[in-house]
Amino acid sequence: METEDEPDWRAEQLLEKDYLVGVGFQWRRHSAYREGWDHDHCVGCWATSSEHEVAEPGEEPILREGFTTCADFENGAEYWWICLDCWATFKDAMKWTLSVTEAPRSTDRQA
Ligand SMILES: [Zn+2]
Repeated sequence: METEDEPDWRAEQLLEKDYLVGVGFQWRRHSAYREGWDHDHCVGCWATSSEHEVAEPGEEPILREGFTTCADFENGAEYWWICLDCWATFKDAMKWTLSVTEAPRSTDRQA
């Protein structure tokens, strides 16, 4: 049984996932990974992330946004999702970086 004052159960989910160590993530609105794929889960806490789904009364809210893998990840962009809470808690332990490879380049004009 899990107790509510045992916040590190998520660590077991994450720290054993070697393939997620040192990965670059991007902040994205959730969108369907492919046709018929209507939701994903946060790798750490299993919170549901979905473009359209609505939580039933009494359920955890559905996340619309999160951190997700980039195109340079071995399985591709938007393969794994991490919620904001898990990101904040585990980004150092997991050596996650925020990759902005898909963001438009700002003008790096120099005076
Ligand atoms: Zn989470």
